[in-house]
Amino acid sequence: MNQKGLLMVISGPSGTGKGTLVKHLLKRNNRIQLSVSATTRNPRPGEVDGVNYFFLKEAEFKEKLAQDEFLEHAEVYGNYYGTPKAFVEDQLNKGQSVLLEIDIVGALQIREKFEEVVFLFVIPPSLKELQRRIKTRGTETQEQMAKRMDSALEEIKELKQYDYVILNDQIHKATRLIESIVEAELASVKRSQSYWLDLFGVGR
Ligand code: ADP
Ligand code: 5GP
Repeated sequence: MNQKGLLMVISGPSGTGKGTLVKHLLKRNNRIQLSVSATTRNPRPGEVDGVNYFFLKEAEFKEKLAQDEFLEHAEVYGNYYGTPKAFVEDQLNKGQSVLLEIDIVGALQIREKFEEVVFLFVIPPSLKELQRRIKTRGTETQEQMAKRMDSALEEIKELKQYDYVILNDQIHKATRLIESIVEAELASVKRSQSYWLDLFGVGR
């Protein structure tokens, strides 16, 4: 019997560095999988269908929603986003940990559906640095950028709904912090006791 993988949600204002952090994390850990979301937004330059997102037309998204194919979904900045259900369940059962990079609306839906989820919230060192990062990324129009900066403070207010704060000042430090959290959570008695008791045949 495998110990079941850890389900983790990672949120934070746009431009904080979630995508960058996740990339580093996946490169260093083959026991962590990223759930690829579906979205109705247009691909950014360099984004690949099936890798960064499954890019869908609105009608396709709604059809999948009607078929109950999403674990959670939300409308963010005028587009729909959703987490495909089958991949997540399959990976957790195989003992892989799964990361969902989703917004607070989706995170709250996940909290309702699963008992033992670890909620991570990524914050930038300052608002000024957040603005600089969004500008440097250069994928948003002026108007989209203003919308994301306005939302940032509202999103940071939701910190209290999460379990851990990940300060993304230096990418390597933030990556190591997440790795430590994953290790500690997997070793917690509440999460691992049935695995160990079964292994030693001493029942529960
Ligand atoms: P998000 O996924 O949260 O929207 P991204 O990962 O796209 O954010 O990062 C936004 C920009 O900030 C990118 O240009 C990225 O290279 C940069 N960035 C991410 N983390 C850091 C960091 N720790 N220090 C400096 N720049 C960073
Ligand atoms: P972006 O368009 O910058 O890739 O993502 C915009 C926002 O949508 C981010 O806050 C991101 O976390 C969120 N998001 C991405 N995928 C999903 C998803 O599957 N579900 C939900 N609820 N939010 C998502």
